[in-house]
Amino acid sequence: MKRIDRVVILGGGSAGLMAAVTLKRKLPGLEVEVVRSPELGIIGVGEGTTASFPRHFFEYLKLPPARFYEVAEPTWKLGIRFRWGPVDFDYTFAREYEQRWPGMRRNLGFYRDRQTPWMGMASACMAQGKAFPRQPDGTPHFHHQHAFHIENVKLVQWLEGLCRDEQVVITEATMERAEVAGGEVTALILNDGRRVTADLYVDASGFRSELLGRALGVPFETYEGSLFCDRAVIGGWPRAAGEPILPYTVAETMNAGWCWQIEHEHWINRGYVYSSRFLSDEAALAEFRERNPRIANEPRLVKFRSGRHARLWQGNVVAIGNAAGFVEPLEATALQVICVETSTLADSLVDSLQEPTPSIVELYNEYNTGAWDDIRDFLAVHYAFNTRLDTPFWRTCREETDLAGAARVVRYFLENGPSVLPGPVLIHPSNSFGIDGYLTMLVAQEVPHGKPYTPTPAERALWKERIGGLGQHARRGFTVEEALAVIRRQGVAGPAGPSSRGGRR
Ligand SMILES: Cc1cc2nc3c(=O)[nH]c(=O)nc-3n(C[C@H](O)[C@H](O)[C@H](O)COP(=O)(O)OP(=O)(O)OC[C@H]3O[C@@H](n4cnc5c(N)ncnc54)[C@H](O)[C@@H]3O)c2cc1C
Repeated sequence: MKRIDRVVILGGGSAGLMAAVTLKRKLPGLEVEVVRSPELGIIGVGEGTTASFPRHFFEYLKLPPARFYEVAEPTWKLGIRFRWGPVDFDYTFAREYEQRWPGMRRNLGFYRDRQTPWMGMASACMAQGKAFPRQPDGTPHFHHQHAFHIENVKLVQWLEGLCRDEQVVITEATMERAEVAGGEVTALILNDGRRVTADLYVDASGFRSELLGRALGVPFETYEGSLFCDRAVIGGWPRAAGEPILPYTVAETMNAGWCWQIEHEHWINRGYVYSSRFLSDEAALAEFRERNPRIANEPRLVKFRSGRHARLWQGNVVAIGNAAGFVEPLEATALQVICVETSTLADSLVDSLQEPTPSIVELYNEYNTGAWDDIRDFLAVHYAFNTRLDTPFWRTCREETDLAGAARVVRYFLENGPSVLPGPVLIHPSNSFGIDGYLTMLVAQEVPHGKPYTPTPAERALWKERIGGLGQHARRGFTVEEALAVIRRQGVAGPAGPSSRGGRR
């Protein structure tokens, strides 16, 4: 492939802007232009992140977090509270199920039962509605096991500011067609009459997938055998005075899918993700309204398909974000995938001295298609074992969900229980959920297995003491409101601020 000195990005949603910022931070000499359509706009949803988001911006790109806190006005998310399976449970970014405590023979997944309210500081804080524990000096311990809730408009505003700082050119125009020759894009023809050319085109055009899907015809591989949902209805309401900001997302089982609750400082965002095979749009809206009588805006409907393109880098086109693939937001992974796609693209250009070789392109495709498939596999486990409701949708999920790449991990669990042994063999090191994520979903949903473990009396006593200690410590912690007041008063401490290191990617 020829040397890449100029990149044109089609699309100015979160994917396009994150691609622009990432490329310019890592390759400042690169010329980057974003073309975005004012008529088509952006999808405008995507408000929960995983712990990979702060790591990408504050550690990989080394951006100062202060401006992010100021412009994007995020709140902290320690994990997801699942109203799912026999009893509610908390999923954190802290890898609690795989840990071992001194004096206990097995990893913690073997000890957790219905009576266990938490198993580590992250889940203890979630249970107490706290974001950060208190240090001996009385200040919050800004641990690194968190993600964010961010209103999409504010995220895009922050990203636009970063683009300006990095001298990214932003052109407001709609692409009417792409010129293609010899299996490559040769130019974008815009509705303002311009003919835009580049050495590399990034397709960030959202579900339209204008370049990878439409112009180059790279096939789309569906995940419909594992993930049956294909629509969402979205609404919300203003936070009432004194209504606490929860430090987590809620994922609640609904008749034909599930409903998220995302916590912004002044707004609560709800969305019902459902399967149109089992529920009409009218019935979904009625159930959504009935469950959320406080909805204060006109709910909007979004249609989607889960899957990814067979290749994400084809010729001189690389697709990022929804143009590359889409998986429903049950683990809020879309922005995480964009972080992974944009960083691997930047690293590929850096390591190839801006002249990517066929093997780099091959590796890029293998790594990034694998990242999408990992999410499909993990979400399949959420659907296959949720026993909360006995509706036609959930019965079908339990009977028909294709576990795909998760099948071997599940088989191991059914025979051996929450052992961590299969991690290094069955789960790729880049898998963002890791064995701990699987153990959380399987143990907390009370999937029966062949090797239950009975703790010794000494282990029971130790367990009780440690759980009690964690609870006490967490109860003294800072709520989201209190922690926001601290960073607004004192600024964000340290070069990376309260960012995320460790935990799940
Ligand atoms: C219901 C739902 C809930 C979600 N929740 C989450 C979540 O909690 N967390 C999370 O991480 N993600 C979530 N996502 C995903 C998230 O919204 C997207 O992945 C993310 O915003 C990236 O979008 P994008 O930039 O790829 O596409 P878009 O925002 O659609 O941007 C596409 C861009 O391309 C431009 N464009 C398209 N065609 C043309 C053309 N011909 N000419 C010029 N410009 C063009 C558009 O104008 C726009 O600027 C959710 C998605 C859905 C559907």
